[in-house]
Amino acid sequence: MPKKLAAGNWKMNGLRQALDEVRALHDACPDAACDIVICPPATLIRSMVKVCDDMQIEVGGQDCHENSAGAHTGDISAPMLADTGASYVILGHSERRATYGETDALVRAKTLAAWDSGLTAIVCIGETLEQREAGQTLEVVGRQLQESTPDGASPETLVIAYEPVWAIGTGKTPTLEEIGEVHGFIREALVKRFGPEAQDMRIVYGGSMNPKNARDIAGIANVDGGLVGGASLKASDFYHIVKALDG
Ligand code: PEP
Repeated sequence: MPKKLAAGNWKMNGLRQALDEVRALHDACPDAACDIVICPPATLIRSMVKVCDDMQIEVGGQDCHENSAGAHTGDISAPMLADTGASYVILGHSERRATYGETDALVRAKTLAAWDSGLTAIVCIGETLEQREAGQTLEVVGRQLQESTPDGASPETLVIAYEPVWAIGTGKTPTLEEIGEVHGFIREALVKRFGPEAQDMRIVYGGSMNPKNARDIAGIANVDGGLVGGASLKASDFYHIVKALDG
């Protein structure tokens, strides 16, 4: 079984003072058994890397451009993220797919760019409520998985985040059985495509994970961690999720 991953997505939240939350998280669980990564806004990445220097906490970006440099005002490239000391990057988050029209093909190109810079890509996939209600969940997730990820993925370079769009920031979650069904489906697809080593590829769940539901979700087969938005902002909340993933 892969080592579980507790990933925090701070989205567009956090000023410098928020770095205290990372220190508090480390103080609360200095020797967590799971891997921890925090993806703060770009403005905090470098300072967070410095804060986490002697901690077991990694830092990641929330997006990167598919090109390594050029005339792309406001964008950040994968080599720039790597240059800050970041080691992960979230790609294809549903908020970026919805707001910026990011397609599976673009997410795939960004994943290749991330790999070129030695970053581990956390690629997000998940259905909308409409798609779930129409019984299209596995079809949508299967297609996104196939088209958003390049060939040649390994457990070190790729994490899949199953994030039902309707569960993000809403307080709603699928049932444990529904999460298990999709994660099992993703595992099968990964092994078929990338071979037996995909048994060790992490498939994390995201969507209103919180201190109350984390232990149940962490116990589902093929759930290898969580991608956590709101509940990752405060160490006092995220700590409980890390503990739940610690087993
Ligand atoms: C997310 O943004 O990836 C997420 C899962 O958000 P939340 O935990 O707030 O639903």
